[in-house]
Amino acid sequence: MARLHPEIYFFGGKIAEGRSRMRDLLGGKGANLAEMASLKLPVPPGFTVSTRVCIYFYQHGSSYPKGLTQGVAKGIARIEKLMGRKFGDRKNPLLVSVRSGARVSMPGMMDTVLNLGLTDETVNGLEAVSNNPRFAWDSYRRFCQMYGDVVLKLKPEKKTDPDPFEELMDRKKALRGVSQDLDLTVDDLKELVAEFRDLIRRRVGRDIPQDPQEQLWEAIGAVFGSWNNERAIAYRKFNNIPDDWGTAVTVQSMVFGNLGSDCATGVSFTRDPATGEKGIYGEFLLNAQGEDVVAGIRTPLQISLAAGRKSAERNGIGEQERKAAQPTLEETFPTVYRELLKISAGLEKHFRDMQDMEFTIERGRLFMLQTRTGKRTAEAAVRIAVDMAGERLLDRRGALMRVEPAQLEQLLHPQLDPKAKKQVIARGLPASPGAVTGEAVFSADEAVAVVGAGRPVILVRLETSPEDIHGMQVAQGILTARGGMTSHAAVVARGMGKCCVAGCGELNVDYAAGAVSANGVVIRRGEYLTLDGSTGEVIAGRVATVEPTMSPAFEKFMRWADAERRLGIRANADTPNDAKVAREFGAEGIGLCRTEHMFFEAERIDAVRQMILAENAEQRARALEKILPMQRADFVGILKEMAGLPVTIRLLDPPLHEFLPKEEHEIRELAPKIGTTYEHLKKVCDGLFEFNPMLGHRGCRLGITYPEIYKAQARAIFEAATELRSQGIKAIPEIMLPLIGDRKEFDILAGEIREVARTVLGNKGARLTYSIGTMIEVPRACMEADQIAASAEFFSFGTNDLTQMTYGLSRDDSAKFLYTYIERGIYKKDPFQELDADGVGGLMKIAIELGRKTNKKLKIGICGEHGGDPASVKLCHRLGLDYVSCSPYRVPVARLAAAQAAIEQRQTKREFKDI
Ligand code: ADP
Ligand code: MG
Ligand code: MG
Repeated sequence: MARLHPEIYFFGGKIAEGRSRMRDLLGGKGANLAEMASLKLPVPPGFTVSTRVCIYFYQHGSSYPKGLTQGVAKGIARIEKLMGRKFGDRKNPLLVSVRSGARVSMPGMMDTVLNLGLTDETVNGLEAVSNNPRFAWDSYRRFCQMYGDVVLKLKPEKKTDPDPFEELMDRKKALRGVSQDLDLTVDDLKELVAEFRDLIRRRVGRDIPQDPQEQLWEAIGAVFGSWNNERAIAYRKFNNIPDDWGTAVTVQSMVFGNLGSDCATGVSFTRDPATGEKGIYGEFLLNAQGEDVVAGIRTPLQISLAAGRKSAERNGIGEQERKAAQPTLEETFPTVYRELLKISAGLEKHFRDMQDMEFTIERGRLFMLQTRTGKRTAEAAVRIAVDMAGERLLDRRGALMRVEPAQLEQLLHPQLDPKAKKQVIARGLPASPGAVTGEAVFSADEAVAVVGAGRPVILVRLETSPEDIHGMQVAQGILTARGGMTSHAAVVARGMGKCCVAGCGELNVDYAAGAVSANGVVIRRGEYLTLDGSTGEVIAGRVATVEPTMSPAFEKFMRWADAERRLGIRANADTPNDAKVAREFGAEGIGLCRTEHMFFEAERIDAVRQMILAENAEQRARALEKILPMQRADFVGILKEMAGLPVTIRLLDPPLHEFLPKEEHEIRELAPKIGTTYEHLKKVCDGLFEFNPMLGHRGCRLGITYPEIYKAQARAIFEAATELRSQGIKAIPEIMLPLIGDRKEFDILAGEIREVARTVLGNKGARLTYSIGTMIEVPRACMEADQIAASAEFFSFGTNDLTQMTYGLSRDDSAKFLYTYIERGIYKKDPFQELDADGVGGLMKIAIELGRKTNKKLKIGICGEHGGDPASVKLCHRLGLDYVSCSPYRVPVARLAAAQAAIEQRQTKREFKDI
C-alpha cells in the first residue's frame, strides 16, 4: 500500500512501515509498536509522525512540512476503516491516543493524551454504542483532565505540587464519602467534566475545543512542544541527550481497559527487574486505563499466581483472603494470561533482551501498547545475562556485553533497603557507592572517639585533607560540601571502599555549632544521618540497608570475563585488609601500595615529625630507625596477604609539610609533645612552605635530597620479604619510584636501593624476586621513556598527576570551572574521571613505544584513579598495557571492562576482515 506521507509510518491491519531499528526516526515507542505489528501481535492500529517533523516544527515557527495535514487525515481514515468507527462521529466515534516518544526514554518528561475525539456530542454516541454510560463519562472525564494538563499546560511544574484536576476529584470523592474513583456515579462524573471545564475556562480563558480535528492538531503540537519544555531541556542536559533529536508523535486507536470488570490494563516484565528471576512479572488494574497503574490510584494486583501468593505472604494475608481480595491476572483472565506469556516469550526472544511491556485488556481481548528494553538492577542484569546465555538467547560474549561495568560496583556494597522510607535532605556527587547510617560528627578525632565507643559515624566536613585520614578510616561514610568526584575525600573513600557523598553544595556545615543543615533540616552532632553513595542522596535519620551477596551467577559471569580479557587486573591497596578485599574480588596483584598512609598512623606520626625536624642525616636516620619496624610490619602484612602475587610499593611521595600542622595553635601544642620548641617547629614549618606543593619538593626529589628516607623504606621492604620467605611465603615486591622525570634520578635511587638489597639479603638475595620501576606521571618521563626504560623494570602510569600536568590543571582547584568547560562542550568529560585519550593517552602511547624499544621485557600498568573507570580501562587495553590497577571495590568493574575491550577489539577486527 502507498505511503501516506514520507514522514508518516503506519502500523495496523497488514501494514507495518516502521521497524525497531528505526528508533532515531520513530522514537523508541513508535519503532517498537511498528515492530510488534510486523510480528502480527495484537497492536491497535495507528501511525507515527517522525522526529524529523519535530525538528522541522522548531525550525519553521511551529509549522509542518508540506502535505503533513493531508497525510495525518489519510492516516486517521485508515484507522477508521480498520476499527469500523469514525473520528468525530456522533454515533460511533473513533477515539485515539496521541503519544510522545523520543529515541531514548525520558521518563515523565513528555506527555500523552488519551481518549482524544470526545466532545459533548461524541460522548453521547460512545454512551449509546457501548451501552455503558459510566465508561463514556469516565473516558470524557479522563480526556478533559489530560487535555487540560498536557495541551493547556495546567499540569504543575513540580511533581510535588497538586494537580488541579486531582484536587477536584478528591473533593468529589470526599463529598460522596467514597475512596475510589470506581465508586463515583455517572452523575458525579458528569459534574466533574463540568467542573474541569470551568477550571480550564477560568485558568486558560477558553474551553476544550469541541472539534476533534482541532483537538488532534493541538495535541500533536503540544507533544512536539513538550520536547522543549523546561523539564525536558534540563533532563537532556543532565543525561547528555542532544537537543536536536526531537520526539516522534504516535496517533493510535484507543482500546479500553475501563469498559467494565472484564477489562484491565497493566505493565509487565519478561523477568523480575529486581532479581532477574525468569518469569513474567508485573501488575495490573481491573477496569482502568493505562496511566492509573503508574499513578498509584489504586493498589495494583499481581499478574502471576506465584507472585501474587508471594506478595500476599509478605503482607501476612491468608490464601482465602488473597483469592477474594487480590485475584491475579492468571486467575481472572486465564486465556489472556497464557497469551501474554506467549507474547512475552516471543518478544524477549525477538529482541534478545528482557522486555518491559504495557498492555490493555478490552472485554477479554489482549492488546499490546508498548515494549522496550527493561531497566534492571545490577543483580538482575548479571543474572539475566547469564541465564540468557544458558538459554542460548546470547553467546557468552554477548552476555558479557550486556552488563554496564560500572553497575557491578553496586553489587559489592550494602544498599539501602528499597522498601524503606527515606527523607532526602540534599543531593551531592555519588563519589563512592554503598549505603551507610551513622551519627553525624564533624572532625576526625571525634569520629575516632565515637567509633571507639562502639557507635557508627558519618564524618561531615567542608572538605577533607590528609589530616582527616584517621577519621575517614573509622567512619562508616564521608560527606563533604566541597570538591568533585576526584577530590581528596572521593579518591580516598573509593580507595577504602567506603561510602562517600562529595561536593554537596546545598549543605551548610557549621563546625562551631556542630551541625549540618540543608533545605531547612538541621542535623546536630550525634544525630543520625544516612548516605547513599550510589545516588548522592543525603538522608535524615536511619534507613535500613541490605547486605550484598555474591550470587553464583555473578561468580560465573566474572569467570567468563576473565576468560576473555587480556589485561591483568590489580588493586590499589595500602593495608592488609584492603589487599584481602581486593584478592577476594579477583585482583591479581597490588598495583599501588602507598606508603604515606603508614606514616600518618597515630603512633607513628610523631616519629615521622621528628624525622622531618632532624637537623642532619644522623638525626634523621635515628628517627627513621623508630619508624622502620612499624613499616616492616605493614609490609609483612600486605605481602603476606598477597602471597605469590606482585605488590607494587611506592616510596614516599607527598611533600613533607603534609605531615606537619598548619594552624598556629596546633604548632604550639605539638612542639612539647615531640621534644622541641615552638620556635624551632615554627621555623621548620615555615621553611617547608611551598607556593605550589604539587610541583614542589616531593616524590623522588625527597629520595634524592634525603637518601636515608628511601633507603630505610627499602630496608623495611627487603626485611619483610626475607621474614616471609623464612616462613615459606612467597613475597614479590616491586619497588616504585614516584615522579621520575630523568633517567639519572632513577639510576641514583635504584643504585642505592640495590645496595640496601645486597646488605639485607646478602648472597641469598638471588632467591628473592624483586624489581625496581617507576611511576610515569611527569610528561618529561614520557618523552624520555626509552632512556628510563633502559634502567627501569616496569612503568606504572600515575594518570592523576599525568593528567594534571598534561592539562596544567590542578585537580584540587579545577572543580570551579571544569563544569563550565564541560557545559560549553570544550571537554567532553572530566579528564580526572575518564582518561583523556588524545592528550594524556597520546603521551602514554609515546612512552609505551619508546619504553618497549629499549626494554623488551618492560612491564606496563596504570595505577591512577582511571584504572577503575570502564572507558579508561578500554583505552588501556587498546594502548597495549599489561595491567590496570584500581580500588578494590572496582576490581570486578575493571575485569568486565577489560573483557568488553577484548571483545570489542575482536569485533572490529572481524568487521575489517569482512570489508
Ligand atoms: P508514557 O511514555 O508516559 O508511558 P504512553 O504513551 O505509553 O506514555 O501512554 C501512557 C499510558 O496510556 C500507558 O499506560 C499506555 O499503555 C496507555 N495508552 C497509550 N495509548 C493507548 C491506547 N491507544 N489505548 C489504550 N491505552 C493507551
Ligand atoms: Mg508508556
Ligand atoms: Mg603522583
